[in-house]
Amino acid sequence: MRSKKPKNIPRVIFWLLVFALCFGSVAFFYTKSQGIDQNRHALTLSVFSDIEQAEKLQTAVMVETRFGLLKSFDPLVEATNELLSLSNQLEGILSPIVLQSSTFANHWNIARASLEEKVRKVEHFKSLEASLENSNAYLPQVVEEVVELTEYIDEYYQIYEAAEDLGTSALKFAGERSRRNQNELSAVLKHLESLAASTPLPEEILIPVEEAIVHATLYYKLSLELDSILRGFQHETLHEALHQVKADYLAWYERKSGMADQYRSMSFLFSLLLVVVVLVQIYRLGLARSKESELFRQIGILAYEDNVTSLMNRNYFFEALGKSLKVGSSGAIVLMDINRFRNVNQALGQDIGDEVLRVVGTRLEALSSESQAISRLESNKFAILVEGIASVSALTAHLAKVNKLIAEPVLIDQQFLDIEVTAVGALFPQISSDQKVLMRTLEDTLKQAKARKLQTAVAIKAVESFDTAQLSLYGELNAAIKLEQLFLMYQPKFGCSNTEIKSVEALVRWKHPERGVVPPGEFLPFAETTGLISKMTPWIIKQAAKDALKFHEKGQDIVFSVNISAIDLMSPFFVVKVQDILDEVGLPPHLLCFEVTESALMEDPDACLNRLHLLKDKGIRLSIDDYGTGLASLAYMRDLPVDELKIDRSFIAGVNIQERNAAIVQSTVQMCRDLGVQTVAEGVETQEEFEWLQGSGCELVQGFYLSRPLVFEQLKEKVSLTVFGETEVNLVG
Ligand code: C2E
Ligand code: MG
Ligand code: MG
Repeated sequence: MRSKKPKNIPRVIFWLLVFALCFGSVAFFYTKSQGIDQNRHALTLSVFSDIEQAEKLQTAVMVETRFGLLKSFDPLVEATNELLSLSNQLEGILSPIVLQSSTFANHWNIARASLEEKVRKVEHFKSLEASLENSNAYLPQVVEEVVELTEYIDEYYQIYEAAEDLGTSALKFAGERSRRNQNELSAVLKHLESLAASTPLPEEILIPVEEAIVHATLYYKLSLELDSILRGFQHETLHEALHQVKADYLAWYERKSGMADQYRSMSFLFSLLLVVVVLVQIYRLGLARSKESELFRQIGILAYEDNVTSLMNRNYFFEALGKSLKVGSSGAIVLMDINRFRNVNQALGQDIGDEVLRVVGTRLEALSSESQAISRLESNKFAILVEGIASVSALTAHLAKVNKLIAEPVLIDQQFLDIEVTAVGALFPQISSDQKVLMRTLEDTLKQAKARKLQTAVAIKAVESFDTAQLSLYGELNAAIKLEQLFLMYQPKFGCSNTEIKSVEALVRWKHPERGVVPPGEFLPFAETTGLISKMTPWIIKQAAKDALKFHEKGQDIVFSVNISAIDLMSPFFVVKVQDILDEVGLPPHLLCFEVTESALMEDPDACLNRLHLLKDKGIRLSIDDYGTGLASLAYMRDLPVDELKIDRSFIAGVNIQERNAAIVQSTVQMCRDLGVQTVAEGVETQEEFEWLQGSGCELVQGFYLSRPLVFEQLKEKVSLTVFGETEVNLVG
């Protein structure tokens, strides 16, 4: 399956780019649209209007000053300063805009120049005004002098009057600088000038008269000059120039506002696009989340649900049990398996097998109100956690209930199929509060219940864990297989009548580097419990088969027997493995025999029967070992496809003197003869036993009396002796 991940990366990059583009555009257009600051605009307009006001005020103050309504220059100075400060403020506001447009700059420069001109004129006005005040102060003294010199002289009477008029007019004009008074002053002055010109005056009168005329003329001219400044002031260009600047500013503002509107709409457009992109992504994320949570839900189901029965699976069961033990709850675990389930699978097919499992699952669901985790652990094995049960009697009753619930025929394809289960239980924490110990105990109890054909059983004590010695044994034994520390000894089976070696039994030994040769009784039970046996047995079969082939190749057909444990027999791969070994070694199958103990057969009689048939079909000989020690019924034994039956050593010991043993041996020999099965007497230790057996009809004998187990070289020697008819009883090994 191709991964979809690489496709997602360009998609993510694409969306990121779209997002960045939209966001960038929004930011760009928004900034642009903010180029017009409304507050600043309002301030600019108000400064423009303030300047207009200030300019008007300045002119008004100047008029008032000119006409003498204001006696001080301070208002004029203040008005001018105000105008200057406002102009500076306006310049500060406009200078960034002025930089952008040359026309604007031009108009602004004109306005600025007009303003400066105006300031200069104010200064000039002030100085003229000061001079006028001086002249005005000096004129009355001169007039007074002329009046005194001419007052009582008739020929100078006109001069006297004209001087007095000049004084009066000057005073009037100083009092009120109106045009009328100014004109009057001018007229009186002219009159005096003409009189002075037409009248011959002595020097002492002429000098003061001329002085009066000079001062009055100066006084009058200054007032005219002030008038001209005032006129110029009133028609100053500053007003128009400012007007132009304002018009430029408003045009600029209009243009900027128009553009800002466009930028604003663009920013709005991209904001919308951004919102759409974000919404689409949120939607996609939500979609992905919901898909993800659905995926997690399905993973959860896969992780905890059994796919065949829809019950919980082993993960769930062990988690639930773990939690229950952790919080210190008390209760029971029920472990059960369906008897002869392998037969159902093999005979009716896996689909029917699955159907049976489903039916059992459905029936078990009826217990859900009182159970916490009804689960299928593996194959045909189920487990139930029942919290609250605290006594053996309650557990026994519960097991009976489970058994009854399941043990109803199942209708499949319109056929009734009987199902039987073996259900065992263990109480916690009474048996143990350790999950591993509990499960090991239950497995052991189940094994024993099945061997005894019990339908239910309750564990009475815990099967404790392996101790450290056993753990180190595991490592050593595991290594022993790899390091080839295992070897075989062969114990012959002799013909009872002619003591010829008909077959040999392979017996495994462990050559331990420190402990020396270890007998099988000390390591095989452990190998069986730990599963190591399934590694050992193929090696033993292969070794025995190779040795058997050596005899076969020399024309000596001796059957090599190998002991097989129940675990080997129940392994689904065993038959295939055996076939592979035979193919690889090239030994005819009838020269290989498997010895299976009666008690091993009883662990799962039906399954064993099935396996034995498969092996038999391959042409391998089969033998029942230690017959008489197990619980196999005669009827069961009759159905077994075996070639040989080995009567256990316990019946052979003292057979010549013990009537009960003799009777058992005799009846067994008789039964085997009827069934066409060869009998072997195991553990013959004395000549008397051997002689008794020779008369019993038993076909083969095996025991220390005839031969101890031999290494292969010794066996070869022994065989050659018997082949050449030189049989003698040799106690070897
Ligand atoms: P078994 O198959 O019944 O083997 C016979 C055992 O009795 C052997 O013990 C043998 O040495 C012993 N024996 C034979 N004749 C006499 C006798 O006259 N008197 C006495 N007292 N004992 C006699 P061994 O070799 O210690 O084997 C013990 C058991 O270990 C075997 O019982 C067999 O069940 C198992 N075993 C041995 N080798 C293997 C093996 O390769 N694989 C498996 N699965 N089991 C094996
Ligand atoms: Mg044996
Ligand atoms: Mg035996």
